[in-house]
Amino acid sequence: MQELIDSLAKKTAEVKKENIAYFKRLKKRVPKNLDYVMQEIHDNEFQKTDCLTCANCCKTTSPMFFPKDIQRISKFLRMKEHQFMDAYLEMDEDDCYVLKSAPCTFLDLEDNTCTIYDVRPKACSEYPHTNRKKFIQLTDLAMKNSEICPATYNIIETLKTQLPLVGKTKK
Ligand code: SF4
Ligand code: SF4
Repeated sequence: MQELIDSLAKKTAEVKKENIAYFKRLKKRVPKNLDYVMQEIHDNEFQKTDCLTCANCCKTTSPMFFPKDIQRISKFLRMKEHQFMDAYLEMDEDDCYVLKSAPCTFLDLEDNTCTIYDVRPKACSEYPHTNRKKFIQLTDLAMKNSEICPATYNIIETLKTQLPLVGKTKK
């Protein structure tokens, strides 16, 4: 898995132009069944992906923490919300609360498990967002996530194969 993760930057750079062109065409004529197709591809990919051997998302990026996440997690940790925020969070350039450091404080590096799994941020439970409704609005995010998430890289490659006509680009 580590080899795959290490090769992602190169692989995503190689298909970047192609993917931008592909999603541009896809947006011009969005297939009615796109979300259905994405759900199937996502499910198939995660059936064969063992996130516990990867955890690259938890190691390299921070989820956004929304008020409900902060409320739920601080309660779970038996901390006051302001204590939790002071200890772990900071504001990013978009005024969103994110973790102060990476890897995520709540990742157990011994076995890649999440120590707050049942109350983890919504952004974590939805990651990498490839099966979200209105996926067409999330294509930039998917391309960005494919740089760190091998499953997302594979999902985009499979999508281009399953909806190939949309993927044709002019030379
Ligand atoms: S969601 Fe992607 S980056 Fe995160 S652990 Fe699973 S395969 Fe790895
Ligand atoms: S809260 Fe859990 S799932 Fe979310 S980034 Fe941290 S370790 Fe990963």
